[in-house]
Parts: sequence; structure tokens; C-alpha cells
Amino acid sequence: MKIHNFSAGPSILPESTIKNSAEAVLNFAGTGLSLLEVSHRSKEFVAVMDEATALFKELLDIPAGYEVVFVGGGASTQFCMVPYNFMKSKAAYLNTGTWANKALKEAKGFGEVVEVASSKDSIYNHIPKGYDIPSDADYFHITTNNTIYGTEIKKDLDVNVPLIADMSSDIFSRPVDISKYTLIYGGAQKNLAPAGVTFAIVKEDALGQVDRHIPTMLNYKTHIDGGSMFNTPPVFPVYSALQTLKWLKDMGGVAAMEKINIEKAAVLYDAIDSSRLFKAPVADLEDRSLMNICFIMNDEYKELEKDFFDFATARGMSGIKGHRSVGGFRASTYNAMPKSSIQALADAMKEFEAKH
Ligand code: PLP
Repeated sequence: MKIHNFSAGPSILPESTIKNSAEAVLNFAGTGLSLLEVSHRSKEFVAVMDEATALFKELLDIPAGYEVVFVGGGASTQFCMVPYNFMKSKAAYLNTGTWANKALKEAKGFGEVVEVASSKDSIYNHIPKGYDIPSDADYFHITTNNTIYGTEIKKDLDVNVPLIADMSSDIFSRPVDISKYTLIYGGAQKNLAPAGVTFAIVKEDALGQVDRHIPTMLNYKTHIDGGSMFNTPPVFPVYSALQTLKWLKDMGGVAAMEKINIEKAAVLYDAIDSSRLFKAPVADLEDRSLMNICFIMNDEYKELEKDFFDFATARGMSGIKGHRSVGGFRASTYNAMPKSSIQALADAMKEFEAKH
């Protein structure tokens, strides 16, 4: 039976990423060594790092003045690297979910944090709008895709202070106007690579403006100056990231990917909206994520939740349980997810509905 991987992360990767990574584990770049045992300073691995960095920049059309670094620590370490490197005294945060809230909380140890708006009271079912950002904030932090709640900011915002974004779960899903951001960061384990590597796109001239001591490993400059090789980089996920970037280029890049993602998401949102049994907690079409599609049973069918889970699992649907903090279902439809898998889930929902 075909298994359809709807996991939120680590999540589905292109077949070529998995196959090429597996081959490199056995014999890396013809060296006769495994990728797992090769020096990161070998010329073969340095070439991988250089190509991954260059292709990352090419695919996102990253302008001059920005650097891309690959580091460890996950997006969660970025929650403190951001204020360490950019907060002088005050920062503004938009609270759109668990991860946004974690980033905001971490920043509180560094100065004044202004929560400009929050959708917490409505279980994060929309992206707040119409808020004011204090003009003396050192930056404004957003989480563009809220992996747990299935909301997404799909447009690059125009704001009055430097903009910083956690794009862990929607990077490479659409073109981004990088010039509008001071920093973009994210864990790689959704649209890019297996867990273990974190990316950051840094506007170089925004660095060096805080007075505090920044621990060496938490200073973006360390990793820019070291070409992501200041310390031993996570070689396996970086190699895998390169394979995914090559796949993305073959697919036509981020503009082509955005089109496909819109089509794919429509299949599932249409199935939810036309259903008697299911509904989407995120009602506003503009806010609906193209990467994590949440759905719950309508109140009168709540007792069927487990039955549907078992029914879908028996048809090969994997990872569709909603996050433990919200319940219901969540289908993650990242770049590598084929439309046929989404159609299979939509068909299973229709089939289940016909029986009830
Ligand atoms: N930010 C977002 C939007 C996420 O979805 C996640 C994890 O799922 C994180 C941050 C945390 O990432 P990490 O586990 O790499 O620290």
C-alpha cells in the first residue's frame, strides 16, 4: 500500500533527495567514503557547501548585501539569536501561534517586547490585521506560516521597522521579496532537508549595531565569516538540502512551486468546504496556509473523529493527526507532496462521508 506522508515535520522530501542522500551515505562523491565519515574540510564537502549556498541564493533571488548561513540549533535557537543580534532596547512581535509566542517569550530576556497583536483568544485561527508597530522598535518579528494552526502570511509585509521572519515551514513555497527583510530564518526539516540544519538569510549591514557581548556561536557574523564552517556543520542535512534545491530548480523554482502549491491546497480545502462532516477552523481564505491544512469534524459528528482517523490510516494516510494542542486533523502539504496524495486524502474523506 502506498503511504502518503502528511507529517508536519520532519516531513516528506523529494524522492531524489532521499535516494541521492542514501547513495552518498554509501559512497560520497566517488571518494569511497561514506558522507557520514568524511571531513567537512575535504574538497568534496566544501564543494557541497558552496553549491548549496549558491543555489539557495539563486532560487530565492537573494540580492547583494545578504548572506546565507547554515547553522545548528534549530529554529528554536534562532529565537534567542534574533534578539541577541538585533535588539538594542525594544522589539515588536506578532503573536500568531505557539512558535511565534515562543520567539516572543525568548526576546523578553533582552529588552522591552511589544506584542502588537495576538490571535490567541480565538485559538490562533486567523492572522491579526490592523495593528500598529511602534516606530522605535528595533525590529518586527513575524512567523509567516503557523505550522500548528494552519495560518499563513502569504505576502511580504511593508512595515516601518526592520522585518524579521521565521519561515521554517514555508520557505521555498513561494517567491519572497528578500529586500523587505533584515533576517529570515528557519529549521530545514520541512521544505528542505532532514532535521539538523537551520538556515538564516542575513542582511549584513544590519549586524554589529548592538552593544552587548554576543556569544561566538550565537553571532551571525561568526557563521558568515566562517562560510558556515566556523565549527563542524551538519554535513548530512546540508548534503540533503543541496539535493532538494537541485530538485526545486528542476521543478521550475519557487514561482512554479507556488502555482503547484495553490492547486494542491485547493483540492483539500474544496473537499473540506464541500463536506458535511468536516470543517476548516481557519475560515478566512486569505489566512489559510498552503503548507499545513487543518480540519476538524463538525460538532454533530465529533464522535466520528477516531473512526475517520482509522479509516484514513487504513488507506495509507500517515501523519494526519492535528497537533496535540489543537486536536482534529492536519495535512501538511509541503513542496514535495504530490497532488495525487492530496487527492487520495480528499477521496478518503468523501468515501467516509458517503458511509455516514
Ligand atoms: N518555527 C516554526 C514555524 C516551526 O514550525 C517549528 C517547528 O516545527 C519551529 C519554529 C521550531 O523549530 P526547531 O524544532 O527546528 O527548533
